[in-house]
Amino acid sequence: AEKTLEDIPGVGPAIADKLREAGYTEIMAIAVAAPKDLAETCEIGEKKAMDIIEGAKLVADIGGFETGDVIQQRRAAVSKLTTGSKAFDELLGGGLESQSITEFFGEFGSCKTQVCFQLAVNATLPEEKGGLDSDVIIIDTENTFRPERITQMCNYLGVDPDETLKRIHIARAFNSQHQVLLVDKALELAKDIKVRLMIVDSLTSHFRSEYLGRGALAERQQILNRHMHDLLNFATVNNAVIAVTNQVASKPDAFFGDPTRPIGGHVVGHTATFRIYLRKGKAGKRIARLIDSPNMPEGEAVFMVTENGITD
Ligand code: ADP
Ligand code: MG
Repeated sequence: AEKTLEDIPGVGPAIADKLREAGYTEIMAIAVAAPKDLAETCEIGEKKAMDIIEGAKLVADIGGFETGDVIQQRRAAVSKLTTGSKAFDELLGGGLESQSITEFFGEFGSCKTQVCFQLAVNATLPEEKGGLDSDVIIIDTENTFRPERITQMCNYLGVDPDETLKRIHIARAFNSQHQVLLVDKALELAKDIKVRLMIVDSLTSHFRSEYLGRGALAERQQILNRHMHDLLNFATVNNAVIAVTNQVASKPDAFFGDPTRPIGGHVVGHTATFRIYLRKGKAGKRIARLIDSPNMPEGEAVFMVTENGITD
């Protein structure tokens, strides 16, 4: 039989309830939790939290090694989601890949959110149209979701806006902790309905405003790191595309190598499979630059953002 939280040594029904209420519904989530987090969210002592985590490690199915052919089989199931622009898709080798995380970073107004809207609409399209024929989850941290914009994009594509909006599930994340817990919620939702695109817009804004100063950096990066791995887990389990946005302050050049600059630089960069830098061009044009990819050359693509959405 499948193990429950009560199977963890030292966890009785009362603590198990506290854990579940705090969003720790899986043994694995506890095994990889930070003692401090667990202590705070479940209102237990840090020593107790450490004991629970050690216990969870003992009973969790940590997994092991996989042979290359198994990975090859899983990779064969990777699908691509269109951005709406041919040039942009080509830059990415056909579109955003499932089973991985794509990060869009850029300054305020560089159309990160517009790209997210278009991806949400496109994901509901059938696969032969570059979609994933699936529902979409959006974790919205900046309250920028606009149904009107989705409607405009749908009208251009000739799909029913109301039907499309019904397939897009939006949750406002009120703070970083809530944002992290929403990924667990998303996992639950994806058990009932097919969700092959999850968007986090923005990945880092709450983290940026909550963890201030050098002293908070290590903790912030640790939580962000775990958040990224939760997202990657969602991508693997659901063969899903994950798109996250990240803002840069002033000097994009300083983005690399210095994790104290824009939020999450280091941690986010290592977990995201594709990193795309967005910037404004002339006359409504936008430029996407592929920064870091395991199997595609670096390069740039120019696309348009109009009332119709993302196009060439
Ligand atoms: P970011 O999320 O990177 O801060 P946004 O995605 O919100 O930026 O992009 C805002 C930009 O999107 C606006 O400056 C505008 O150029 C463009 N935009 C938004 N709505 C429309 C529209 N209906 N028609 C054309 N362009 C739009
Ligand atoms: Mg935005």
